[in-house]
Amino acid sequence: MLKNSSEIDITRVTQSKIKDVDFENLTFGNVFTDHMLICDYKEGKWQKPIIKPYEPFLIDPSAKVFHYGQAIFEGMKAYKDENDDVWLFRPDQNLDRFNKSAIRLAMPEISEHIFIDGLKTLVDMERDWVKKGLGNTLYIRPFMIAIGSGVIAQPSTQYRFMIILSPARSYYSGEVKVTIAEHFSRAANGGIGAAKAAGNYSAQFYPQKLAQEQGFQQIIWTDDATHTKLEEAGTMNVFFRINDTIYTAPVSERILDGVTRKSLIELAKREGIKVEERSVLVDELVVAAKDGSLKEIFGAGTAAVVSPIVGFQYKETYYELPKTEDSIALQLKDKLTKIQYKLAEDTFGWTVKI
Ligand SMILES: *Cc1c(COP(=O)(O)O)cnc(C)c1O
Repeated sequence: MLKNSSEIDITRVTQSKIKDVDFENLTFGNVFTDHMLICDYKEGKWQKPIIKPYEPFLIDPSAKVFHYGQAIFEGMKAYKDENDDVWLFRPDQNLDRFNKSAIRLAMPEISEHIFIDGLKTLVDMERDWVKKGLGNTLYIRPFMIAIGSGVIAQPSTQYRFMIILSPARSYYSGEVKVTIAEHFSRAANGGIGAAKAAGNYSAQFYPQKLAQEQGFQQIIWTDDATHTKLEEAGTMNVFFRINDTIYTAPVSERILDGVTRKSLIELAKREGIKVEERSVLVDELVVAAKDGSLKEIFGAGTAAVVSPIVGFQYKETYYELPKTEDSIALQLKDKLTKIQYKLAEDTFGWTVKI
């Protein structure tokens, strides 16, 4: 770990703001911890990382992030167990994906040393912000932006990598109804859908707003070419349970390779739940909804872990899902969160102690 100051420059706050935080009433992503990590890239290399008090910073108005959207991020969590140990969940997967996103956006890759060791040092400094008990987490947001100035449309030569941390509580999102995309697309073949790029989110906001005006919390995205294959639910991967098999689309150029998705697949296999990675067609879903074999639809992602969906709209018709007593979604969610909080044995070796 980058514990000593020869590898990382650390400036601490004089007084923590933790005592002003109401940990019982947190809205997601609004409160940040005392410190942040910054590491700049210039002259072809990453500079020494620093950890300093969380605060705004100056960037030139012509910085490329503002004009051409070179911005990528990750979303991870830290968990505290009953012995006050703090754990990360599969951080290697986030580093891998971050570097894949960087390559796709013509940004520099980052080392394990800066990303993982920097993250561990920062989270270790903020361990009081990670609260015990199921549902309490510290949300971790690593990101990279192009800070080089000049509005010429070419990749920046200067970048800033940062990590900020936000205490979070799991929340009940209410009943989630979705509408299936018939016109808009989140991603296209050859595009940036497989990268965790800021632009993928801004491109979703408008269709999502239209869906919300019609009473749907999320959109189930379909493939851009034919709108016949079901791909993701909003910013989550999506699973369908037909009879007793769960299905999710294979990862592709249009689908984000979610850590929650791949973990649920492995867990399901271990538990003897039938799981298939294959495209589910919209027509197939409608038929299954009509004949009663469609039992569950759920989104999967770090923020909500598993997000059950109660019904979907397609071509003006709303299909409501049956209430299930034996929800596979909730069963898998329970197994996964118990591993994350060290309440169940981690037979996969997914958890990493800080
Ligand atoms: C982040 C993200 C996911 C979920 O990935 P996790 O690693 O499970 O958090 C799924 N789809 C999209 C589009 C995403 O951006």
